[in-house]
Amino acid sequence: MAEEKKTLQIKQMKTRWGTCNISKQRIWLNLELAKKPLHCLEYVVLHEMIHLLERLHNDRFYKFMGHYLPQWKFCKDELNRLPISYEDCQEEDEG
Ligand SMILES: [Zn+2]
Repeated sequence: MAEEKKTLQIKQMKTRWGTCNISKQRIWLNLELAKKPLHCLEYVVLHEMIHLLERLHNDRFYKFMGHYLPQWKFCKDELNRLPISYEDCQEEDEG
């Protein structure tokens, strides 16, 4: 997961916690995440990073998720209780 050239940047967004542009290997995070619990931030970062490995929300995607962050469901539930609903990718959007 630690190759160079991948970039992670932060900006203010109204509707998304994070997005990833797979072709450019770039992840954007919502500045609002700074106000949330750290595990929520971890969840979003991890989610977007996994998209660099697997662009769809498929079995393979959730296997990576469970491997790197076994409690990801808890984090996602917590995020979904907050006003901005969690999602995500510019290129593929399946919730
Ligand atoms: Zn996603």
